[in-house]
Amino acid sequence: MKRILLLGGTTEARQLEAELSSRSDYEVIVSLAGRTKATRNRIDNAGCITHRIGGFGGADGLCDFLRNNEIDVVLDVTHPFADQISWNAHKAATSLNLPLLRLQRPIWQPQAEDRWISSPDMAHAINALETGKRYLLAIGRQEAHHFATRTDCWFLSRSIEPLPQYQQIPNGEQILYQPDGDVFTEREILATHAIDGVICKNSGGESGFAKLKAARDLGLIVHMIERPSCPACNQVNTIQDMLLWLYSS
Ligand code: NAP
Repeated sequence: MKRILLLGGTTEARQLEAELSSRSDYEVIVSLAGRTKATRNRIDNAGCITHRIGGFGGADGLCDFLRNNEIDVVLDVTHPFADQISWNAHKAATSLNLPLLRLQRPIWQPQAEDRWISSPDMAHAINALETGKRYLLAIGRQEAHHFATRTDCWFLSRSIEPLPQYQQIPNGEQILYQPDGDVFTEREILATHAIDGVICKNSGGESGFAKLKAARDLGLIVHMIERPSCPACNQVNTIQDMLLWLYSS
């Protein structure tokens, strides 16, 4: 019986969970940061899967967790922008000499007709905005409030769950939306709110790509925030490759 720690919080992690749930040769602990109510409510301890929620207390806390729970393998299927947990996983797995595999979604690449402005980080993107323009802010909840400093712009701030009252952006509006890959809806949102540009993170994946297709169709600028660096470790791009690695190791 192999014991796996699956660091989750992504669609791919949920898919992997479903794939592994019927296996009798694995015990899988799925760990979530617990950032959204939707994720916390979705928890289903089926088959060989159990869940835990919340931080470990840094790399040292994660080391203790791996040791105390007799984990054999760590699968890092976290979001490309959740870099801290990936660095911690790398440090902890290395110090205990445990196998670690990361699932890394391919980045989105601009096509010839795209009008992307690349930003290495959030601060750069904030500075790159144009006075008087209206932006769709599609970067999730955690960092949206930083854009409030650009009082000369207007923001349609979009997230799956609402921003806390104290983090709302005064110069804009807020909508709740779970991206599902529907380009038509994305175009409608951009057109209805007379959006000039889209601000997003280069998260990769299919559901989030629809807003980029819609921006391309409407000839809009996209401020693309590039990924933070992640540790050099064994990586795959697909769930199938992760399962192949797991079943053959
Ligand atoms: P982070 O910066 O990597 O993590 C911060 C801390 O949260 C970690 O050091 C860890 O706390 C805890 N943590 C994160 N993921 C965890 C997991 N799977 N299990 C247990 N603890 C976990 O990530 P973040 O602050 O959650 O998110 C950073 C950015 O990632 C967000 O702005 C968003 O763009 C994107 N994102 C994250 C998630 C997610 O599920 N985390 C989902 C979608 C998008 P300890 O150090 O105490 O262990």
